[in-house]
Amino acid sequence: MIRNVGVIGAGQMGCGIAHVCALAGYKVHIYDISADRIEAGLATINGNLARQVSSSKLSDEDRKKALALIKGSADLNDLAPMDLVIEAATEDEAVKRKIYGQVCPVLKADAILATNTSSLSITRLAASTDRPERFMGIHFMNPVPVMKLVELVRGIATEEGTFAVAKDFVNTLDKTITVAEDFPAFIVNRILLPMINEAIYTLYEGVGSVDAIDNAMKLGANHPMGPLQLADFIGLDVCLSVMQVLHDGLADSKYRPCPLLVKYVEAGWLGRKSGRGFYDYRGEVPVPTR
Ligand code: NAD
Repeated sequence: MIRNVGVIGAGQMGCGIAHVCALAGYKVHIYDISADRIEAGLATINGNLARQVSSSKLSDEDRKKALALIKGSADLNDLAPMDLVIEAATEDEAVKRKIYGQVCPVLKADAILATNTSSLSITRLAASTDRPERFMGIHFMNPVPVMKLVELVRGIATEEGTFAVAKDFVNTLDKTITVAEDFPAFIVNRILLPMINEAIYTLYEGVGSVDAIDNAMKLGANHPMGPLQLADFIGLDVCLSVMQVLHDGLADSKYRPCPLLVKYVEAGWLGRKSGRGFYDYRGEVPVPTR
C-alpha cells in the first residue's frame, strides 16, 4: 500500500510527478541536490496548481490540500519513510546509478524504487540497485499534470507484485497505462524522437525554416505542436540523449542524432528551460532562432 511517495529531482518532471501525486492525496517528499533547486521546484508546483485554479480545473481548497502534502529537502535521509520513490533526475546513467547507490541504503527493505527515465534500460538500472525485483519504469509524459499516458516498463527481474502495486498506484492518479517492453526508448519516444530528429535534419539541410517545418506538421499532419516547438518543450539535451540511446542500443544508423541538435546542446540552448532553443523565449513571444 503506497502512502508516502518520494520524488528524486525537482526538475520539469519531478515537479509534475509531485503535483499529480499530491492531488491524488499522497504525501510527497521531493529531494534534489540543493535547497535552491527545491525552492524553485516548490515555486513551480505552486504556480502550476494556481494556474489550474484560475482555469477552473481545480478548487482553491484542493490546491491548498495538495500543497500541504508536498515537502522537499536536499537531504536524502528524508526519503527513508517512503513506500515508493520515483527517480526523475537528469537523464544520465552515471548520475542515476550514483543516486541509487546513495538512496538504496536509506530506503525501507520493501520500498519500491521506480525511474522516470525516457530511454535507459530498466534492467540495467535495476541491476545497479539492491532491489532489482522491486525496481521498474514508471514513465510519465511532459507536462505531467496534463498528459494522460503513463508507460509502465518491467525489467527482467521486476516481480509481478511490484508491477501490480505500480499499476494500482498509477490508476489512482487518473492516468491511462500502456505497458511497454524494456527496449530502448520504449514506445512513445521510440517513435516520437526519430520524428523530431528528422525535423531537425530538415532544418539542418535547409529544406525549411523553423516556422515552415512547425507549420507544415501542425497544419499538414494535424499535430497540436510543431516538432521543433515540441523539441524545445521536451528539452534538447533530453532529445539528444534519447537519440544517443536509440543509436547505441539498436546499432542502426537511422537513429544518428542530427549534428545541429548536438550543436544546440553544446551551446547550452536547451529549449524552453534555458530560455533558448529552436525558439528564443526571452521576449514576449517565442522567436525562431533560424
Ligand atoms: P530536468 O533537467 O528538468 O531536471 C532534472 C533534475 O534532476 C534537476 O533539478 C537536477 O538538479 C536534478 N538532479 C541532478 N542530479 C541529481 C542528484 N544527484 N540527486 C538529485 N537530483 C539530481 O530534467 P527532466 O526533464 O525533469 O527529466 C528528468 C527525468 O525524466 C529524465 O530521466 C528524463 O529522461 C525523464 N523524462 C523527461 C521528459 C521530458 O519531456 N522532459 C519526459 C518524460 C521523462
